[in-house]
Amino acid sequence: MYTVAQLMGGVWGAGGAGGELVVHDPADGSPVTRAPVATADEVAKAVSAARDAAAGWAATPAAQRAAALHRAADAVEAAAEDLAEATTAEMGKPLDDARGGVAAGVGTLRQYAELAPVRGGRTLHGDPSALDFMAPEPRGVVAAITPWNDPVAVSCGLLGAALAIGNVVLHKPSERTPATGWLLARALDSALPAGVLSLLTGGSAVGAALAAQEEVDVVAHVGATATGRSIAAAGARTGAKVLLENGGSDPLVVDADVDPGWAAEQAALGCFANAGQICVAVERIYVHRDVAADFLDALVARAGALTVGPGRDPRTQLGPLVDRGHRDHVHGQVAAAVAAGARVRVGGALPDGPGAFYPATVVQDCRHDMTLVREETFGPVAPVVVVDSFDEALRCAADSPYGLAATVLTGSMSHAQRAWRELPVGTVKVNAVFGGAPGGAAEPRRGSGRGFGYGPELLDEFSAVKAVHLQAPGGGHW
Ligand code: NAD
Repeated sequence: MYTVAQLMGGVWGAGGAGGELVVHDPADGSPVTRAPVATADEVAKAVSAARDAAAGWAATPAAQRAAALHRAADAVEAAAEDLAEATTAEMGKPLDDARGGVAAGVGTLRQYAELAPVRGGRTLHGDPSALDFMAPEPRGVVAAITPWNDPVAVSCGLLGAALAIGNVVLHKPSERTPATGWLLARALDSALPAGVLSLLTGGSAVGAALAAQEEVDVVAHVGATATGRSIAAAGARTGAKVLLENGGSDPLVVDADVDPGWAAEQAALGCFANAGQICVAVERIYVHRDVAADFLDALVARAGALTVGPGRDPRTQLGPLVDRGHRDHVHGQVAAAVAAGARVRVGGALPDGPGAFYPATVVQDCRHDMTLVREETFGPVAPVVVVDSFDEALRCAADSPYGLAATVLTGSMSHAQRAWRELPVGTVKVNAVFGGAPGGAAEPRRGSGRGFGYGPELLDEFSAVKAVHLQAPGGGHW
């Protein structure tokens, strides 16, 4: 059992008068974590203490900050196995995936440690006797509010970029993965000056209290769209900059000319990895009628062949969902689609037994207007809509309240070109559901958020640029 402590004003074990929350292992329902809940008053005090540490960290030479961040990355690496085990115990993903998430987080910390010191401003061509330049500065106090689905990788991105630029950070990890957040904060804090990083635990009320603080300069939220919208409203009141990486309903288009077996392999990966709990999971499939029957047969076979079990079992390919409440949400969308005429080909039934398991599910005869297709499901479900043309597929793919990412499987270069030009999303992938070069970064559209949530551009998001003009008094020399 993990016993989490908060970190406020450089002091471990501070606060917690808001009570305690208990996290249960989604594989068997047993309690795994006890975490304190911060009160609104504690949140305010923690922000104020962080503000006191901001000037010192901002004035620390960039190379020294980078060296501290490298040491912090070493500490996270040393705690990698503990972090992976805590992730699996709290949110259920297969242990190897959890290890991958930690490794990605360590890599991101190191990238930001390398990039931040070499990211300069601009000099300007003004009067030769004057000096004109633009200098990026840290914004000050950053609140990072993060989700549970890949807790270390996501948190390291926001925390690494914000800290490397010279901001102080208050981290509020998800109430479903507080021990993972606590282990990460312990590792990072061991290499940082006291007060530069704070850890606040609790649920949505703690996040809301943090987002409402006047002294917070940036609120960076990764999580659900509805949460992002309420944080944006809070930011409008306080004047904080708001950075949002939110939900999605990513389409997969299967063109008429692709091998349906290979397309099914891609679809299975996109729909079922991490039990569908990935922001860029495939959430809806538009398959051309010419290949639909073979594609569906192959996808059903792949879904049925996955090994289901607890994340800690090395044979497991499909772990449980994060909790039963989320399972009800997933199953509710499937049941509503069936009630509206769709047909479950495999899965789609709540299993008996402990935990929050949900089978890999393929639903055919879906229509574009069904909630299962239009809204985010965040579960191991593949809703399949048959279309009669690439035009129709692209039109449906573009018609969404979200705009995170999209994948198109096609043998046609002109269809690939149309896809990346016409789809109103942050990321377009052609012929691979997951892929992309290091350093790539995108801005999500519509309900999927705003601003860059990763890549070198995230360093800019956490900086404020100042324009400076220096000239001698009276226009002479000095
Ligand atoms: P969530 O928004 O419910 O929770 C995320 C964090 O926000 C938690 O720490 C939570 O306590 C906090 N929070 C909740 N309500 C709040 C409020 N009113 N004010 C301030 N903070 C609040 O999201 P979740 O369920 O933890 O995560 C799943 C969602 O995250 C999915 O929609 C998924 O698509 C999204 N996600 C997006 C990305 C991306 O890069 N776009 C990455 C990972 C996850």
